Amino acid sequence: MKKSIAIIGGGTAGLMAAAFLDTDLYNISIYDKKSSVGRKFLVAGDGGFNLTHSEEIKKFIKRYTPSEFLEPALRSFTNQDFITWLGNIGIDTFIGSSHRVFPSNGIKPIQVLRAILDFLKSRDVTINGNMEFTGWDNGHLLFNNDLNVKADICIFALGGASWKITGSDGKWKQLFESKGIKTVPFKPANCSYNILWSRDFIINHQGKPLKNIAILFDNQLSKGEVVITRQGIEGNAIYALSSAIQSVLDKEQEATIYIDHKPTLSYHEIVEKIKKAGRSPSRRLREILKLNPTQVALIKDRMSKENFLDIEKLSETIKKCPVVITGAGPIDEAISTTGGIDRDSLSLSYKISVLHNSYAIGEMIDWNAPTGGYLIQGCVSMGVYLARHLNILRASK
Ligand SMILES: Cc1cc2nc3c(=O)[nH]c(=O)nc-3n(C[C@H](O)[C@H](O)[C@H](O)COP(=O)(O)OP(=O)(O)OC[C@H]3O[C@@H](n4cnc5c(N)ncnc54)[C@H](O)[C@@H]3O)c2cc1C
Repeated sequence: MKKSIAIIGGGTAGLMAAAFLDTDLYNISIYDKKSSVGRKFLVAGDGGFNLTHSEEIKKFIKRYTPSEFLEPALRSFTNQDFITWLGNIGIDTFIGSSHRVFPSNGIKPIQVLRAILDFLKSRDVTINGNMEFTGWDNGHLLFNNDLNVKADICIFALGGASWKITGSDGKWKQLFESKGIKTVPFKPANCSYNILWSRDFIINHQGKPLKNIAILFDNQLSKGEVVITRQGIEGNAIYALSSAIQSVLDKEQEATIYIDHKPTLSYHEIVEKIKKAGRSPSRRLREILKLNPTQVALIKDRMSKENFLDIEKLSETIKKCPVVITGAGPIDEAISTTGGIDRDSLSLSYKISVLHNSYAIGEMIDWNAPTGGYLIQGCVSMGVYLARHLNILRASK
């Protein structure tokens, strides 16, 4: 006889678990509080839709914190496996210059989601919208406070706590705590950071980008770009440092990052170039080093007039421009969150130790990864890994 599986949460992780569970062994039902599933997946597709990253697997795994937690899942269903699987359901991909993997030109995020949903439909997976999980009732799952559902196995894939509008509001955390499941407070990750810009600088440079920079923090170097906002900065170069920055902000009021405005040149090369250039220091920076006006203004803002005219001090600041972060931006605007279920509450196959036949996957667990396809791939790999584990478990009985 087939066993029933309830997957609660129809986001990236839940949908992928459903796609890989063996339908000869299980009747699969997905429940989501929203009327339709995959809303955060669609939001992710609004900007550049990084489905995964093409990096070599050993390096790829190191992007996750803690990498040991995600490693078995990432090795079991790799970035390359995901690309192949997407191709099999009709979604071709391409690798961009940043080595990120996108749907091929012309394929919209909604088409990717539809292809996944069509695949689930062909496997008789049932999707139930407007079903908010509200707790447990005498061994049954409780939805909308008054609807009991019985399932042999339950997979929770309830997401993190940002972009509430997509359904991922983190409200489930209290329910889990009431069952004695250890949790960790939610925190914004891959988020904007607050900086107290000087008035003169922000008036002229709000909304402007710093491109082709690198940010140094705690011996980690992150290349990319950021945008100056009224409150601080956001963008891929800072997102990648989230774990390290957050752990300093946990203990201290501030964290100082260092912007390298010219990562392709060494300090000595910059000194030589400036020496050879004409007299106006700002022009030297714009014309010889190709820094944009926002970079020049930021460098000036960090230096006394006297030091700005000193070629060596100026070159030092171009390579290591200090910027003080005073906190993280609002959690609801973060691309992802850390916190949620404490990893110690789970077995190696994501079984929740204190609950009967219940598992948790995806962003609802306390782990972190930078943007660029790593978040979606982490959720995808966990979903597939758990599905394969449950298939083997049932087949061996
Ligand atoms: C703006 C933005 C851009 C992003 N861009 C990228 C990107 O380019 N690449 C990348 O890799 N990642 C990106 N991400 C992150 C990525 O989308 C998420 O990490 C990933 O989708 C999380 O998947 P999940 O299945 O764990 O949770 P989610 O996709 O959040 O799904 C959780 C589901 O659970 C449901 N739910 C919650 N509570 C309940 C309840 N009580 N009862 C029933 N259902 C419930 C929700 O409605 C939701 O459908 C982006 C995120 C954002 C916000």
